[in-house]
Amino acid sequence: MELKNEIRSFLDLCHLLHEKDLVSGPGGNVSFRCGSQVMITPSGRRLESLKEEDVVFFSSDGSFTSQNGGKPSKEWRMHLSCYSRNDIGAIIHVHSVYAMAISCLKNLDHLCAIPVYTPGYGTRVGKLPVIPYELPGSVELAKKVAAVIDRRNSVMMANHGILTVGKTPEDALNLVEEIEEAAKMYFALADQGRSLTEEQQAQLLPMGLRQ
Ligand code: 13P
Ligand code: ZN
Repeated sequence: MELKNEIRSFLDLCHLLHEKDLVSGPGGNVSFRCGSQVMITPSGRRLESLKEEDVVFFSSDGSFTSQNGGKPSKEWRMHLSCYSRNDIGAIIHVHSVYAMAISCLKNLDHLCAIPVYTPGYGTRVGKLPVIPYELPGSVELAKKVAAVIDRRNSVMMANHGILTVGKTPEDALNLVEEIEEAAKMYFALADQGRSLTEEQQAQLLPMGLRQ
């Protein structure tokens, strides 16, 4: 894809995340792999207002450039560390309300943040792991997220939000939506939900390529 088209689809995704209420204010960030570089959202900006000149490009040595001199998301290390998996083309990090509420639960299950209620969720997300709280933008956060992303496509960060990855931007967006919907269901069910049994979940595993 030509760079111009890639920037267009990057901006479209940023705007769509806002339209779908998956981000608000300056929270959240997005990146796409772009040859040997990574294209990422600037720090502290509302995703729905981003324009071509705001997009930041950074290289594996940590150097970055943008047309208007903006700085990359403070989570650039988190994004960069995840790209060590070379099948990843796009990464989305959001503070979507329901997933974030789950991440703040007192008795959060760190091995499986949201009960697996449905086969679709069980196939594509499965047992969503939670990493302990770390300071946003820290090297520790980047390391812990990348350690999970080494073996799966989504992770929850305690008291913070979620991060998903995909071969394509659509794959990463599908996971964000899947997790946010499951989180909504968790609250709608108000402790009355029945999750799939371990056996039912195990039957789905072969269908999920890399949860
Ligand atoms: P940035 O605006 O620097 O991307 O930070 C937002 C965020 O979500 C931090 O975790
Ligand atoms: Zn964040």
